Amino acid sequence: MSQFGTEFCDHISIVRYLDGAWQAPSLQPLAPLSMHPAAHVFHYASSCFEGFKAYRWTDGRARVFRLHDHVARMQKSAASLRLPIPDAAMLATMVTDLVAHQVKDIPEPPSSLYLRPTLIGTLENIGAAAAPSTEATLFVLASPVGDYFAGGAATLKLLVEDKRARTTEQLGSTKTGGNYAAALGPTLEAKEKYGVDQVLFCPNGDVQETGAANFLLISDDEIITKPLDTSFLHGMTRDSILKLGADLGYTVSEKNFTVAQLLEWVTTYEATLSGTAACLSPVGTLVYEGKEITVRDGKPGANTAKLQKALQDIEYGLVHDTHGWLTEVG
Ligand SMILES: *Cc1c(COP(=O)(O)O)cnc(C)c1O
Repeated sequence: MSQFGTEFCDHISIVRYLDGAWQAPSLQPLAPLSMHPAAHVFHYASSCFEGFKAYRWTDGRARVFRLHDHVARMQKSAASLRLPIPDAAMLATMVTDLVAHQVKDIPEPPSSLYLRPTLIGTLENIGAAAAPSTEATLFVLASPVGDYFAGGAATLKLLVEDKRARTTEQLGSTKTGGNYAAALGPTLEAKEKYGVDQVLFCPNGDVQETGAANFLLISDDEIITKPLDTSFLHGMTRDSILKLGADLGYTVSEKNFTVAQLLEWVTTYEATLSGTAACLSPVGTLVYEGKEITVRDGKPGANTAKLQKALQDIEYGLVHDTHGWLTEVG
């Protein structure tokens, strides 16, 4: 399969917000969008998105993972950007209609259909820098994706950045393109300077997350991660792993921790990133103040693998979905 995010289904689901109301959504052939060059999004970054997956089981039907939680998160993102808030039932139906239409394009697990609802401000007004976009377009793009680790599970190397923040406090938990733009420069600099894969942002020593994934520490009996606040994105993979970890008997410690504690704990704890695209991605090396610190023995850990399997078994339909996370489609 082609590189993640470069192959698309031939339809999208799309709706406009005009005159104070959402219009009727429709399925349309995938095609370029026509927009006025003054559209708010181009100038003032009024955009947010979601990312989650649908899996096709052996019965030929699809299951969307945590659909309603992702819809709720998109509503939160839209509200924080003062964009028109998508109606929850409307957006969920846009997703399920599209998945039903494209169900035959979904490759079998571990491959899946990645879904990318996107909301953009389309108000035609370049004088609206300090005003919200009162018009918007919402679409759902679908992309068949392969196993992220088809090339073998290597461990990641992260730069521990204890000065610069990934983004600002007011947008930290908003899934918006501007946050990626803010993290891009520091991430590319770190790649070039230290040969790392990602930057773990820890402003003032507070261990937060990387540019696009949450961060967890895992031992044989405990999972440690930062408690929810406005500084970082509230990942659904993080939340799912914490719930499954509790089911499996791990103590879940949502607590703030410092770079100093992190460096001490990785002598015994496994470290991993979490996010929809790759599920859990084990971290093998940290770079801090120019020195390399190996996480345990530098190899992927057994607890990370066990938790990832617990989550994927639910997604792939190998065990019962006791948490009610899946929405059946098709
Ligand atoms: C999307 C995202 C995540 C991961 O969230 P999931 O719901 O687990 O996919 C983590 N951090 C950032 C900054 C993100 O944008």
